[in-house]
Amino acid sequence: MVPARVDDVIGRQRDMTRVRNIDGYYCACINNGDNYGECLSRMNSILKGEFILDWALPNPDAGPARELTDPGAGRRPRAAAPPRRAHDRMRRMRVRHRALDLRLRHTFRIARGASDVRQNVLVEIEDGAHVGLGEAAPIKRYGEDQRSAGQAVAQMAERLEDARTFADAAARAAVPGQRSAEAAVDIALHDLAGQRMGVPVHAMLGLDPRQGPPTSFTIGIDTPDVVARKVREASDYEILKVKMGSDDDREVLTAVRDTTDRLLRVDANEGWTIESARARLPWLHSLGVEFVEQPLPADRLEETRALRRESPLPFYADESVHRAEDIPRLVGAFDGINIKLMKCGGLGEALRMIAVARAHGLEVMLGCMIESSIAITAAAHLLPLVDAADLDGSVLLERDPFEGAVIRGGRFVLPEAPGLGVKPRG
Ligand code: MG
Repeated sequence: MVPARVDDVIGRQRDMTRVRNIDGYYCACINNGDNYGECLSRMNSILKGEFILDWALPNPDAGPARELTDPGAGRRPRAAAPPRRAHDRMRRMRVRHRALDLRLRHTFRIARGASDVRQNVLVEIEDGAHVGLGEAAPIKRYGEDQRSAGQAVAQMAERLEDARTFADAAARAAVPGQRSAEAAVDIALHDLAGQRMGVPVHAMLGLDPRQGPPTSFTIGIDTPDVVARKVREASDYEILKVKMGSDDDREVLTAVRDTTDRLLRVDANEGWTIESARARLPWLHSLGVEFVEQPLPADRLEETRALRRESPLPFYADESVHRAEDIPRLVGAFDGINIKLMKCGGLGEALRMIAVARAHGLEVMLGCMIESSIAITAAAHLLPLVDAADLDGSVLLERDPFEGAVIRGGRFVLPEAPGLGVKPRG
């Protein structure tokens, strides 16, 4: 590639160089430590229109737009490119989807039901040189299944305007009520963008992959014997998340506590009433539980607010929060939120949610559905931004058809390959 001259550096932070581009916008570019040359070469590909940075901010001091000199000569800057160019580029983009059935190691039981096989959807977006991978884990509670998610992906493929705008292209093409399909396309577009830029997704977002909380391991509702066995099997994890919301809550948690002294979190999955929550919270506190996720049904916000005033334990919202616009009304009822890519529609919305949650003084957890390493790795790239993680969806599988981020001693190690860094398991 012939480098265009990108010398208008307006400021540097750690791992980040800000550059003013031809349209009078600030753009951020990851600097990979001290490798400034690599940063500039990536900036070139942005200026040449190979990428559009959606997080570029208007620069009030820019004055009239001006062109940067290109030593390659004759090359026209993106601002002057004819509109056909984006269309041509998009025509080479192929979106495919197919069923991705995932068998679970153990029957997984929560307050709402049980399952042995999860019917997910695999999405591939190809630009001729790279293939971005995405995954939908449809959520039955919200009217999604494998068929509806697949249909939504097919519709989105028709609507995608220009995949270079990866940060919010899926959101703009989304089918109402089909968030997991939106997430699948969004994840694939982020993977593709990272591969085209030659950097891992976490680097594309300016994040240090070593900074991230350990993940918990989820213990589903089961008989005390089985629960105790699952706890022993999960010896790699320093935090356990125990599913509650059945009549046997006390027996289950006692079985866990008798087996281990590890840190415990509890997820009621909307399975309690205010009375049953009141009966359990002091006892959970005495067992050293760290926090409770979604104690009451999502529509019981005022009751949750009242319960929290007397609760010895903090609350995290899960079913009560889907997207950024849900967050402000949760203040006072919850201490934190559980973001899941399948609920919110992907990495772009997850980033917005993290910003909004922080602005409202809320803690942030990253959670998941039962997913392969595609969607789990996508979420793991955001771990440096959050306080808690519950990304064990792929560990619960009999066989994960993909490999990406791996868990060592309860902590994620992110791939260093460009994009998500996920590939089919050999
Ligand atoms: Mg939950």
